Amino acid sequence: MMFVETALNIPTDKTFTYIVPDHLLAEVKPGKRVLVPFGKGTAIACVLKFLADSGRHDTKQILSVLDQHPLFGENDLLFYQWLAKYYMHPLGKVIFEALPKEKASKIKRWILPGSAFGQINHTDLSREEVLLINLIAENANGILQHQGQKVIPIKALSEAIKNLQKKKFIRCENRPDTDDHLSGQYERWVKVTNLHDPNKKLTTKQHILFQEILAKREIPLPVLKQEIYCTPPILKALHEKGYIEFEERRKQRQPFTAFLPGENKLSECPPLNREQTEAVQKIVKAFSVSQFSVMLLHGITGSGKTEVYIAAAKQVIESGGDVLFLAPEISLSVQLAKRVHARFPDIDIAILHSEISPALRYQQWLAIQKGEIKIVVGARSAVFAPLKNLKLIIVDEEHDESYKQDERFRYHGRDAAIMKGKLSGATVVLGSATPSLQTFFHAQSDRYAYLSLPCRVENRSLPEVTIVSMEKEKNNGAIPVLSSSLISAMSASLAGGYQILLFLNQRGFHTFFYCSDCRHTISCPNCAVSLTYHRKTEMLRCHYCDHYEKAHSICPICGKERIIRYGTGTERLEAEVRRHFPNAIIGRMDRDTVTGKNREKILLALEKREIDILVGTQMITKGHDFPYINLVGIVSADLSLNIPDFRAAERTFQLLTQVSGRSGRGDIPGRVIIQTVNPNYYVLQKARDQDYHSFYQSEIKLRKTLIYPPFSRIVSLHISASHKNKAEKAIEMLKQNIGMIRRKSIYKTIEIIGPSHSPIEKLYGQYRWQIPLKGKNIPHLHNLAQDIILANKSKTLRITPDVDPIRFI
Ligand code: ADP
Ligand code: ZN
Repeated sequence: MMFVETALNIPTDKTFTYIVPDHLLAEVKPGKRVLVPFGKGTAIACVLKFLADSGRHDTKQILSVLDQHPLFGENDLLFYQWLAKYYMHPLGKVIFEALPKEKASKIKRWILPGSAFGQINHTDLSREEVLLINLIAENANGILQHQGQKVIPIKALSEAIKNLQKKKFIRCENRPDTDDHLSGQYERWVKVTNLHDPNKKLTTKQHILFQEILAKREIPLPVLKQEIYCTPPILKALHEKGYIEFEERRKQRQPFTAFLPGENKLSECPPLNREQTEAVQKIVKAFSVSQFSVMLLHGITGSGKTEVYIAAAKQVIESGGDVLFLAPEISLSVQLAKRVHARFPDIDIAILHSEISPALRYQQWLAIQKGEIKIVVGARSAVFAPLKNLKLIIVDEEHDESYKQDERFRYHGRDAAIMKGKLSGATVVLGSATPSLQTFFHAQSDRYAYLSLPCRVENRSLPEVTIVSMEKEKNNGAIPVLSSSLISAMSASLAGGYQILLFLNQRGFHTFFYCSDCRHTISCPNCAVSLTYHRKTEMLRCHYCDHYEKAHSICPICGKERIIRYGTGTERLEAEVRRHFPNAIIGRMDRDTVTGKNREKILLALEKREIDILVGTQMITKGHDFPYINLVGIVSADLSLNIPDFRAAERTFQLLTQVSGRSGRGDIPGRVIIQTVNPNYYVLQKARDQDYHSFYQSEIKLRKTLIYPPFSRIVSLHISASHKNKAEKAIEMLKQNIGMIRRKSIYKTIEIIGPSHSPIEKLYGQYRWQIPLKGKNIPHLHNLAQDIILANKSKTLRITPDVDPIRFI
């Protein structure tokens, strides 16, 4: 008897063993999903490997096989296993997060020819059984049960199925309802049979049609119908006389690039400059020895990094290897895909991100797994793609924190990509204008190779950056939204026919509603944050849980009408800009104005110069390349500095440098104006000078003194609970347990910080605490985290580990 080890999509580290029944032996393969009995019902499991023995007596049988093709190979499994272990996340959950979604609720029953199908004697069968057999005979790939129901009443059908299954004339299979099986994906072909009986005479019409089909041997039915007169009865007769047979075949699929939004402009590769050429050569040298290596491509914004990626990818493709391109966000991955497609017009490129429809994702995944795809471009989840011969992984904007998934399975796309490179013996290129401190540190210590593009292409100059102190701009004690320098720079820019970006990382109109009498700030009932006023809808909204309520002018606590509103979000900024520049066309891009595809529309309008001034949150800061933008205004540089996090300075530096980089991408020099109340803060000074190296030197010293990453590792435990009082008691218990655990000698060097309240104490109605664990040895950190989770005996607290956390809010 054969067994398989499987993983289920449930929160447990256990795997589950099932028996492979004989009739499924040929079909069951590692990497396929199967339907299994589980508890009182059924569940979908993923086959990991064959086993000779289950080690127990109550092992159950697999019910059916859900995938026709395995969805991943051995190497991919090793990768998923590493992810599960490193990120302390159940393997089944990792795998089901990685795989294109199956639609578990939509499993359909198929009826297929059985092993004894050829030996059927019709005289022994009931009328319904004959009907069913005929139906299957016409559909060699099987029929759906509901197709049978159209011809045979349901009760008689189940009876017929049961009888015919016993005789092995037919078999049944449950398959998920993916596109693969949708009729739209298949078309019917007509084929000449190998052995037709020449004694069975044909009529003239049948003969003519048969000669036509014979000349082609096989032809799609729709094509045949177009080319020659043929009615269903003639075809049916030919089929019954055994001259032809039908087959359902998958339609030739469209290239995946056909699904890219907007027009696809073909473009020529510009001749690379000396630094670009050198970088390409080093990358090529690295992957041609087929060994794992990591390289940092440090190139300022507009230095031509993307051209380097593409040139290197070209060589990989020519030598038969596969390339994976990762971008931190969906829209950047789409843009990157377009550029890659423009350079490889003849290569079918798969584009993977979470907004691709499940059906298309599944199709692309299969094509990748079958080795039909050489290039995959996508957002972080594309790192799971089962590329066969991976030689080069590009992680663009590697510093970007969107690579970290902060829910369900908390993994980091860049770090996962590095591990994937290690397992595949591929070269990993991390590209950025503002590398993460950690990556640059590794490049300094020679763990990563260092490639540098220090100049903008064609010697375009970097923008001139000015810091404006908003204290000095105070008008009647109030800080205005726009400083006079920014307003005059904007006028000049508009007068010259250029475009402007204004960045403010806060949406809404006013960010605080506050009672000047009792000092109550109106905040969210579910989250410990203040509500933001949105003028268009006259609503106060929570930016975390989306709670909203009507904006009121009376304090809910003291009942006085002394509500003061202050703070500025993008909605107010837009209104201010409109007031100053009534004739300019103004666009806004933030989560209130952008929904799905409309983001591309705004960007397209910007590209076509249909927008003069674009106001937006961090959505506008990244990657985009618009040659007519010559002014970027950073309306408040202070917001990101006030977050209690050891990465606040790094994040601010990156943000300011990246958004500044949007200015002056074309032939005209750009300007950047940074508004702040902390004009002397070192991060702003370094950002103004666009001096990464000097920023790095000061920041890394701090990290070293405080033993923060990259000089240590952190595993954080997020704790949440719905009942405050119970939770506080449980936290006290947990503290005592931690006291016991930390006495273990291997944990001596680990710093356990907390448990303490999270900076946002309550979110989505859940009370929150955190315990960051800081140390140098990651396995010890893993074990300690595990021990603390196990020591949490109360079920009151939910503890989830977060390995290499990015956010501490
Ligand atoms: P980055 O990715 O570093 O921001 P890009 O690769 O997007 O830079 O290059 C910025 C712009 O300069 C693009 O429009 C690109 O086509 C162009 N470019 C890149 N390399 C060259 C080159 N060697 N000569 C001329 N133009 C170039
Ligand atoms: Zn809320």
